[in-house]
Amino acid sequence: MFDLEKLIRPQVRDLKAYHVNEPSVDVKLHANESPCNLDKSVVDKISAEIQRIDFNRYPDAACEDVRNILAGQLSVEKDQILAGNGSDELIQMIIMAFGGHGSPVIIPHPTFSMYKNIAFAMGEEVKVIPLDENFDLDRDAMVSEVKKGPSITFISYPNNPTGNCFSEETIRDILEASKGIVVIDEAYFDYSKKSFLDSLGAYPHMIILRTLSKIGMASLRLGILIASRSMADIINRVRLPYNIGSLQQRAACIALKERERIDRESSIIIEERERVFAEMKKIENIDIFNSHSNFILFRIDNGGKIFDKLVKKGVLVRNFDSEGPLKNCLRVTMGTPLENDIFLSNIKNI
Ligand code: PMP
Repeated sequence: MFDLEKLIRPQVRDLKAYHVNEPSVDVKLHANESPCNLDKSVVDKISAEIQRIDFNRYPDAACEDVRNILAGQLSVEKDQILAGNGSDELIQMIIMAFGGHGSPVIIPHPTFSMYKNIAFAMGEEVKVIPLDENFDLDRDAMVSEVKKGPSITFISYPNNPTGNCFSEETIRDILEASKGIVVIDEAYFDYSKKSFLDSLGAYPHMIILRTLSKIGMASLRLGILIASRSMADIINRVRLPYNIGSLQQRAACIALKERERIDRESSIIIEERERVFAEMKKIENIDIFNSHSNFILFRIDNGGKIFDKLVKKGVLVRNFDSEGPLKNCLRVTMGTPLENDIFLSNIKNI
């Protein structure tokens, strides 16, 4: 018999596929999406644009129009920007371009799981450095690790799933000390308004990531990488041809022009975050953690059981309850005011 298992790349053998196990519930507050769909007028414009696509032709390989719009909005050059099929693809491209030195991919813990999963699948060593008791970076441990060699360090800013922005000073210390690449993943920038983008000139080894997934366009799968021109040029060498389809490109061009609407919606979500935070503070036996994101992490006795009870009430949050620093922790994404009220009343009752 042919044994496929023996042929699998060793690192992939024990991996599990990324499963989205989504119970069908009305209130979905588990995936850090925006609760605001695109406006009908925008969807109408996208529908009209779709009529003009030559479906028999490949998309624009360089994704020029999207990059041009983003360059204008971010005040950088188009050649400093790469588009990815979600920022997940950009994380993979960064590791593909800069890994392979036998030195590690450095990540704090807990953080966004894909840094580790992608690095591991590509055969990289992963060095995990625990966050401190305030979920901030361990400055000394990070600095001493990034000094050692040509590593790739991933810093989620704000951090998913803890929600906070790490100390800016510590991140600058890491940037100053690093002999390798430092990725600042600003997926939740619209909810923190804190960014290292202005420092690109000072740190040629820094890469900034953004995404449209958290600002109402998760279905488009469009991630954004911003770096120096030479850095973007290097990463572009490993980009697969035509990685962004025409539908994505055309829709993104139209939706991105609605910058004012996106900003308005982000402001509402920030207000909701503050309101939900204040309401949760009033509940006994819940520890809540400061958030600069569109979600709030909290700790509650019997977290896993509370998660199940919320599902039974039709509210889906994200369950992080397992041994370690996230024991009994759940993460709730900010939904519409009504959805947040439903979450609040259920958590209070439970
Ligand atoms: N970075 C962080 C910190 C995230 O939380 C996420 C999504 N959960 C991503 C990147 C991936 O986003 P995208 O949908 O653009 O692949």
